[in-house]
Amino acid sequence: MVRFTCNICSAYNEVEHFASEPSTCACGSNVRLRALIHLLSNELFGRSLPLPAFPKMKAIRGLGMSDKECYNGLLAEKFDYANTFYDREPRLDFTESHPELAGQYDFILSADVLEHIAPPVQRALEETRRMLKPHGFLGITVYCNPEDRLREHFPELHEFRIVPLGDASVLINRRRDGVLEIRDDLVFHGGSGATLEMREFGASALRAQLLAAGFCAVTFLTENVPESGVLFDHDTSQPLIARNHEFTFDHWAGHQMVDAWQSAEARARKEKERADVLADRIRLASASRWVRLGRMLGIGPKFD
Ligand SMILES: [Zn+2]
Repeated sequence: MVRFTCNICSAYNEVEHFASEPSTCACGSNVRLRALIHLLSNELFGRSLPLPAFPKMKAIRGLGMSDKECYNGLLAEKFDYANTFYDREPRLDFTESHPELAGQYDFILSADVLEHIAPPVQRALEETRRMLKPHGFLGITVYCNPEDRLREHFPELHEFRIVPLGDASVLINRRRDGVLEIRDDLVFHGGSGATLEMREFGASALRAQLLAAGFCAVTFLTENVPESGVLFDHDTSQPLIARNHEFTFDHWAGHQMVDAWQSAEARARKEKERADVLADRIRLASASRWVRLGRMLGIGPKFD
């Protein structure tokens, strides 16, 4: 039996047959998604908070690549966050250049997406890094094979279509040199949209590619976080953070923290004043002659 509190919805769970990929909480979260939120929290706030307890900070700007429903709504509540998709609106293709988005984001999340991006994946990694602020970071989950090797399934992909043929699908590709290729050894991952597996990463190759894309540091989460239901097995997608410089709050976010703190202080002060007034009233009432008399007779209001 595995017991944990989901850090995406805050529900307490007891799971008898625990596995990493199937959802193990009613909200739909699994090990890698809880690991991603754990990393996001640590990166932003220096501690692992459950998502519902994240402070609301609209000064923090985030972007999702096909983020899942179990956490994208809460992220939009907490931050200036937008989810995007490769194949539907709001659409964003990370393999294309978006100069208007350069340096705009504190964080970008990519949960099991990098293996589906058409080659060269390097272009998407470079574009993602460009879209981050100098102190921004990229949160990733991606399957890495135990052989630690990058396997690019379609290195010559150029103009291509996936077409149904009989019971299965085939990929027809016209390479840059004009040669036509047809492949039927396709692996699709569950879910909607463009889910053809384009490659399998190894951890070392992924780190090298992220560094080559200009990221300064890459940190993999390798330890379990049992209290949040993050327990790795050989099948778990690897959660990691690729950073530019260490994350810091910018001025605007700093102001928002101070404003939130001040209004919380003011609220606490007002509540204390109200409690003091009430205590005074009770003291006065208890002191009154009629109440004392009533108490002697065992009748009247009770204030304790
Ligand atoms: Zn949950």
